[in-house]
Amino acid sequence: MKRGAEHSRVQRKGRERDLQTCQICGSKDHTEGHHLFDYAMGGAADEDNIVTLCHDCHQNVHKGLTSLFRF
Ligand SMILES: [Zn+2]
Ligand SMILES: [Zn+2]
Repeated sequence: MKRGAEHSRVQRKGRERDLQTCQICGSKDHTEGHHLFDYAMGGAADEDNIVTLCHDCHQNVHKGLTSLFRF
């Protein structure tokens, strides 16, 4: 399977698991999949590696303003 297709499949599965809801603030607006571990860091192409975040929380995570590991 092509990596791109696998990528979209696990993104979709991860978001379905999270009910398309941001796992930080609970918003359902503009949700997207965030990789807990980057592929470059050895992260798996697996829905366990995807967490659903809204756009704002996603930006904050990447800026280091929000930690996902307080759960
Ligand atoms: Zn959010
Ligand atoms: Zn991300």
